[in-house]
Amino acid sequence: MERVRIKEVLSRENTGQPVTVCGWVRTKRESKGFAFVAVNDGSTQENLQLVVPAGTPAFQVLAGVATGAAVRAEGVLRESPAKGQKVEVEVSALELFGGADPASYPLQKKGHTLEFLREIGHLRPRTNTFGAVFRIRNILAAAVHEFFQEKGFIWVHTPILTSNDCEGAGELFTVTSLDFENLPKGEGGRTDFSRDFFGRRAYLTVSGQLEAEFLALALGNVYTFGPTFRAENSNTSRHLSEFWMIEPEMAFAGLKEDMQLAEDFLRFLCRAALERGESELAFLEAHYKRISLEELRILAGAPFTHITYTDAIKELKGAKETFEFPVEWGLDLQSEHERYLTDSIFKGPVIITDYPREIKAFYMKVNDDGRTVAAMDVLAPKIGEIIGGSQREERLEMLEERMRESGVPPEGLQWYLDLRRFGSAPHAGFGLGFERLVQYITGMANIRDVIPCPRAPQALGF
Ligand code: ATP
Ligand code: MN
Repeated sequence: MERVRIKEVLSRENTGQPVTVCGWVRTKRESKGFAFVAVNDGSTQENLQLVVPAGTPAFQVLAGVATGAAVRAEGVLRESPAKGQKVEVEVSALELFGGADPASYPLQKKGHTLEFLREIGHLRPRTNTFGAVFRIRNILAAAVHEFFQEKGFIWVHTPILTSNDCEGAGELFTVTSLDFENLPKGEGGRTDFSRDFFGRRAYLTVSGQLEAEFLALALGNVYTFGPTFRAENSNTSRHLSEFWMIEPEMAFAGLKEDMQLAEDFLRFLCRAALERGESELAFLEAHYKRISLEELRILAGAPFTHITYTDAIKELKGAKETFEFPVEWGLDLQSEHERYLTDSIFKGPVIITDYPREIKAFYMKVNDDGRTVAAMDVLAPKIGEIIGGSQREERLEMLEERMRESGVPPEGLQWYLDLRRFGSAPHAGFGLGFERLVQYITGMANIRDVIPCPRAPQALGF
């Protein structure tokens, strides 16, 4: 008989019917002539209870079954007399696939710390916490596509390998097929990358934005959703070396439309998580107390606070709190400043706009005041920056000036400048770090706990 996923079994009303399930044993106990086995197959937060009568062949099989074992059970679906579950399966046949030795199986019924679980990255998806996080991650990933597809945005696939080293978003990883024991040397004893695979130095991309721009300036509205890589040595709870980024780009749009899109997007994602991941979110709420469903419901509907960088500096200068880093017009905001604005002053998401041109990337449009650029950062409570976006500079001369002032050599970016030579148009977009989003919705404190295989400095296990 075909196996049914536990999520579906638990929603069935037709008790009395035969059913077959597979999964991993979470707990097993015996009482009054029965064994009770809780199994989980990853399809849902809840376990299914198997009831195995003593003296049956299935009960014999159970002798070798402990937490962690993979099993297949056939039986009949029954209404459950136990609290907290509507149905259970009275088992007639049980098959043990692979057992797990209780003496060495690292996951025990007692709770484990998230730090410990990071060391067993291959087994942590079997815990309630990581099952919840990865199912929410899936809900959000699907909702990202839904949101943009409904709006007619075209999903584009920008490259992972790039020769573009001047986006200024952080350190890059070099990709090479050169022999490290015998590197070809050129001028000044430096490595000669013209003899490398691509005939030039190659990197892993830090962003798909520049390519998304040329696609938007042809297809109208586009978005990317793919992996990006940053070799910044920041060992924080919100930075990964490999993370997924969503980058919409819209032609014939400015900062206002960009901010509207970002807000609508985040609210849509909150709603999707609440609608399709309620039991996962409820588990995380009860267990970690870092999110509240109530708050998420409010977030799913509430408008965000908007403030200019200049006004944000005024707020921070007037703060009662003392900060570790200085607050001065022209300096970048540190995460302590961002937290103060979201958590203490505005108590919700905040969009900061119009940053000084000196601290932002060369491609952001210079405002009429000449001192600021049409940039926006969306800051989320407890996390800080979750989205960074801008209207792009569409004037050729201004863009060239900004490249000079930011020290970006124009040679490799002639194609980018071409977009301003041929049919230039106002356009805008943003980047949302997907893991920061998953953190925001799940409340997980460390970004390493929202991706199956976190990459960070000195961390490349699993
Ligand atoms: P931060 O100041 O937080 O380091 P950033 O300004 O360098 O971020 P952007 O270049 O604006 O980031 O990238 C767009 C988005 O990508 C950010 O808003 C954030 O959500 C996400 N992001 C950036 N760096 C990382 C990282 N190392 N790990 C995970 N997400 C990241
Ligand atoms: Mn940013």
